[in-house]
Amino acid sequence: MDMSTRMFKEEGWIRKTCKVCGKPFWTLDPDRETCGDPPCDEYEFIGKPGIPKKYTLEEMREKFLSFFERKGHGRVKRYPVLPRWRDDVLLVGASIMDFQPWVISGEADPPANPLTISQPSIRFTDIDNVGITGRHFTIFEMMAHHAFNYPEKPIYWMDETVEYAYEFFTKDLGMKGEDITFKENPWAGGGNAGPAFEVLYRGLEVATLVFMQYKLAPPDADPSQVVEIKGDKYVPMDTRVVDTGYGLERLVWMSQGTPTAYDAVLDYVIDPLKKMAGIEKIDNRILMENSKLAGMFDIEDMGDLRILRETVAKRVEIDVDELTRLIRPYELIYAIADHTKALTFMLSD
Ligand SMILES: [Zn+2]
Repeated sequence: MDMSTRMFKEEGWIRKTCKVCGKPFWTLDPDRETCGDPPCDEYEFIGKPGIPKKYTLEEMREKFLSFFERKGHGRVKRYPVLPRWRDDVLLVGASIMDFQPWVISGEADPPANPLTISQPSIRFTDIDNVGITGRHFTIFEMMAHHAFNYPEKPIYWMDETVEYAYEFFTKDLGMKGEDITFKENPWAGGGNAGPAFEVLYRGLEVATLVFMQYKLAPPDADPSQVVEIKGDKYVPMDTRVVDTGYGLERLVWMSQGTPTAYDAVLDYVIDPLKKMAGIEKIDNRILMENSKLAGMFDIEDMGDLRILRETVAKRVEIDVDELTRLIRPYELIYAIADHTKALTFMLSD
C-alpha cells in the first residue's frame, strides 16, 4: 500500500527501512537508520525532556482537545469505561470502542464529525509490564480525533491526519521535526483493519494513526476484493474511519523527563505511598538507567525480567540481587498506584 502522504512528498520526507526491525518508516533526517521504536531505539528523554514546557495531565489534555477544536472538530465528553454498545468486551480499551458498532455501521450518527475526545481506556493485556517498563498502564487516557467517512459524506483521510499530528507535535508542543518518525505498521483489531502509522519521538511511541477501511471477509467474499493483513482476510468497508490514539500520559512524561511515566502522572499517589511504606531512596542514576533499559523490554515472563535486571546491573555496576532489592519496591508501588486508579474508574463508572 502506498503511504506517501501529501506532507511526505511536499516536505521532502524520506522512506527508509529500519536496520534493526526491518520495518519501513518516514523521516526528515537523511542520517537516521532506526525507526525510533523500542527496542530499535532507547528512550532519549529521561532526564532531558523532549518538550520545552512541562505539562500536567490536565494541561496536556486541554492542549490537545483545543488544538483539534481549532481545526474544526467537535469536542466530545468522555464515555464510561464500560462499553455502551459492545457486548463482546467488558471494558473500553480505546476511544473508537465508544462508537462501535453502530456509528461505524452508519446506524447511529456520531455526536460530531469529525470529533475529538480523551477517553479513559482500560487494558489488561500489558499488566505484567505495569510498574516495570515505565510506560505501560492498565488505565490510560487515549486522546483521539476521529473522522467517519460515510460513502456519501467524506470528511478527511491520511493526508490531513498526518499533517495534524505533525503540526500539533512541532508547532503546539515544540518537538523537533527531524526527531519524529512515522513507522508504517498495519493495524488490526475487533474485526477491522487498515494501514497505520506509529508516530515515534526520542524512543517513545506517542501516537498511532489508523486508517480503518477493512472488515473481516465473509466466507463468500469476492476474491478480487480480499486483502490479507496480519494473517487474516479482509474486504473494504463502506465507511472508512480515521482512528487515532495519542498517549496522554506518555506526552506528559515526555514533557517532564521523569524516570517513569508513573512519576509524571501518578506522583500525588506514589510519593505518599513511598513514605508510608518506608521505601529506601535509590541513587537517581540507577533509576534513570533502569528506566532507559526497561523501555526496551516487553516483560512476558520471569525470564525477561531476569535479563532486564542483569543488563541494568552490568551498566550501573552493582550486584543483581542488590539491584532487585532496591528496584522491586518501586515497581510494586507504581503498579499499586496504576491498578488503584483502574479500579476507581471501573467502580465509579
Ligand atoms: Zn525498528
